[in-house]
Amino acid sequence: MTIQDNLQAINKAIHATALACDRDPSTIQLLAVSKHHPISSIQEAIDAGQKSFGENYIQEAEIKCKALHQDASFHFIGHVQSNKAKVAASLFDVVETVDRFKLAKALHKQLEKENKQLDILVQVNIANDPNKHGVAPHDTITLLKEITALPTLKPMGLMTMPPYSQDLEQTRAHFKALRDLSKTCAEKGLFYNNEAVQLSMGMSHDFKVAIEEGSTCIRVGTAIFGARIAN
Ligand SMILES: *Cc1c(COP(=O)(O)O)cnc(C)c1O
Repeated sequence: MTIQDNLQAINKAIHATALACDRDPSTIQLLAVSKHHPISSIQEAIDAGQKSFGENYIQEAEIKCKALHQDASFHFIGHVQSNKAKVAASLFDVVETVDRFKLAKALHKQLEKENKQLDILVQVNIANDPNKHGVAPHDTITLLKEITALPTLKPMGLMTMPPYSQDLEQTRAHFKALRDLSKTCAEKGLFYNNEAVQLSMGMSHDFKVAIEEGSTCIRVGTAIFGARIAN
């Protein structure tokens, strides 16, 4: 299977899954997660019509963004150390992993200098997993309220990566919890657009369940590009 074949198969699955749960397929974005894959693979995906990519490591992403930014948009989906906030603010179209006010402030400071705004998502550690980054569910409202004071940041929604489980029903419960949390936050008017809140959830093995639970952005790596050398 080529990258083009894989993309075609996933786009077909997105379409079918969306229709089966009465959703408009055009409201679901496929983010191709290209960490640890070479520029040539990303180019192959671009040639097959893929527009947006997710990267996890700032230095690796910087090279790829600079080479390809005219043909693709890049979301940052890795952990952002506060001392890398400056690069992250300049480089990416979306930063999906804002999980603390210190980072939000550091992004804002750089964006003010560049006189621009940035779409962000707040990363939630939905299962309170000690091995995962993200704001705790019960601190999410407070963080979003704090972010309201930073006008360069446009909080578009929430992102999560639940603990890996072979039991998709367990994963489903986490996705549903993120959706419920996003509703509570939207009712309080905490997002940039409270009528169209983004939910970034779902990866290669669980994106169908994520779509059923309301995902608007699935982040798929392995099923597009194959196995990664290192993680
Ligand atoms: C690597 C990664 C993905 C993609 O995972 P696959 O299982 O390869 O589809 C999605 N989201 C995040 C945050 C990742 O780090």
